[in-house]
Amino acid sequence: MPLTIHLLAGAAIVGLTINLWGIWPGLFLALISHYLFDALPHWDYSIENIKKRLWKKALPEFIKIFLDTVPVLTIIFIVSKNIYLVIGAVLAGFPDLLFFLNCLFPNKILSFLGEKIHNKIHYPGQKTRLFRRACITFLIFILLFYIFLAITVNSPLA
Ligand SMILES: [Zn+2]
Repeated sequence: MPLTIHLLAGAAIVGLTINLWGIWPGLFLALISHYLFDALPHWDYSIENIKKRLWKKALPEFIKIFLDTVPVLTIIFIVSKNIYLVIGAVLAGFPDLLFFLNCLFPNKILSFLGEKIHNKIHYPGQKTRLFRRACITFLIFILLFYIFLAITVNSPLA
């Protein structure tokens, strides 16, 4: 999933939950949202050269990642003027950062956290298809639940 979507989702989750539950649940949900969004069937741009550690060919991919993160985080901060939304955005992108760091500095811990767990969800095999469906169902539930809360709690009709 392009990082822009993860970052916007993380900022939105923190923005939507901060007044209801405070900062920590939103930050936790922002992190979890990464895996839920990656579980959705989606398009991704290629970072094959980075994955294969072909550094001489990887510059365009580094530029794509830069353009997919820095302007988005900057816009989130400028528009919201709320550092918690930026932290939520960063947390929502954090699993991809671990994946990226494992490409740059491969080691056992990053390989487990950044590649094994992430790829199990992102590239589901036969065994994880059920998990992917559960994630989609959970995301739909959360979205509908939030719409329900927004309508009933803030509605002038309530
Ligand atoms: Zn990811």
